[in-house]
Amino acid sequence: MTNLSEQDLINVHSDVDRSLEKDKKIYVPYMSDHGHALVGAFRNQGLNTTMLSKPGSDCLDYGRRYSEGGECLPFIVTTGQLIKLIKEEPNFEPESSAFFMPTSSGPCRFGQYHTAQKLILEHMGKSVEIISLEAYNSYTSENLGLDFRNLAWQGIVAVDYLQKLLWRNRPYEKESGKTDAIYEESLEDIKDGMSEDGTRGLITALKGVGKKFDSIETGPRNRPLVGIVGEIYVRANDLCNSNLVRLIEDLGGEARVGPMAEWFYYTNRKKKQDGFRDRKLLKYLKGWAKDLVQHYGENRVRSKFADYLDELDLEEPSVGELADNSHPYIPEDYRGEPVLEIGKAIDYARQGADGIITVTPFSCMPGAMIISVSDLVKKDHDNIPWLNLTFDAQRSTNIKTRLEPFIFQAKKYREKSPEPEKEEN
Ligand code: SF4
Repeated sequence: MTNLSEQDLINVHSDVDRSLEKDKKIYVPYMSDHGHALVGAFRNQGLNTTMLSKPGSDCLDYGRRYSEGGECLPFIVTTGQLIKLIKEEPNFEPESSAFFMPTSSGPCRFGQYHTAQKLILEHMGKSVEIISLEAYNSYTSENLGLDFRNLAWQGIVAVDYLQKLLWRNRPYEKESGKTDAIYEESLEDIKDGMSEDGTRGLITALKGVGKKFDSIETGPRNRPLVGIVGEIYVRANDLCNSNLVRLIEDLGGEARVGPMAEWFYYTNRKKKQDGFRDRKLLKYLKGWAKDLVQHYGENRVRSKFADYLDELDLEEPSVGELADNSHPYIPEDYRGEPVLEIGKAIDYARQGADGIITVTPFSCMPGAMIISVSDLVKKDHDNIPWLNLTFDAQRSTNIKTRLEPFIFQAKKYREKSPEPEKEEN
């Protein structure tokens, strides 16, 4: 990336579009499978939307070529997807296209991604619009109203629960590949249902999902459970985390990753706290109402999974509980992911997990804070096996070498305090 002067950033930042022109084709970069829900919600609004395919090493190469080396890994991957689209998609028309890049405020670089990407495009001489919706405003814009927001939200939590069904069943399946096949089919059903009939279509799609997973024949549930927490993009993106969940399963473990929903609830909490602190009643009430509506939407979705998941997967702690968990280790006035991630790691430990893995991108600022307190948290929680993994997507091979002894420790930890559950379908 060419050097960005402060004035460059200011100019471009004010130029980034937060509205949507309905005649443009929207490209959503692949971050995680939650993108399917976003595409379903965009399409339901009549917007021509496509999700880019899962990024591979070619996206990393493109991203690195157009960055300077000090940027965060998620920036390199999303920028690589954008450049690949421009260079390799034969039918791509810059003027009638828009690239979706959400943003957020807080103590890290995420809020600058869309600005820097716009600048890169300018230097390439490409005028592709970048649509950037703000986390604090729940990713709404002036022409995407409450319908979009509520539908996208319910789709996102549906994918959270769907992933739990995947991670719960796949390690124990007797017919290899069956769980993945049902999962992929369900994702498509969710996206199509949302796109065609909004919330009603989503709920209809979810009605059959649990039963399909229930048809999977599984063996005894006897693997150590590993809770994965950390930077939201890297923990959700298989390319960035070297397909960590699958690696854990291959080595004899079972994994869970913190849900996407927690970040949205956290922004609601911040909005309420800011409104209270600044004596701005309207702001407080907006945060409160949004929280209420989102909890209602989540409960509606969760009810469709209630017969197929156990308490660990159905009952997520509130962000207030996560903040309480983390406050002995993270200052109360700190804003950002470490509050959630340390809080969630402690929750996993209390729920009976046998090991914790934190995942952070190389040079991630909030990630450094998570790692810095991890020793203390581990000691205070029965010395639960704990592994901090930092990723820079350099295709390193030592992750497996580090995981093997960790899974061994987790198995030993489990033997020390065995789980009573021994189900067999
Ligand atoms: S959380 Fe870390 S990796 Fe993500 S944008 Fe912020 S600094 Fe970069």
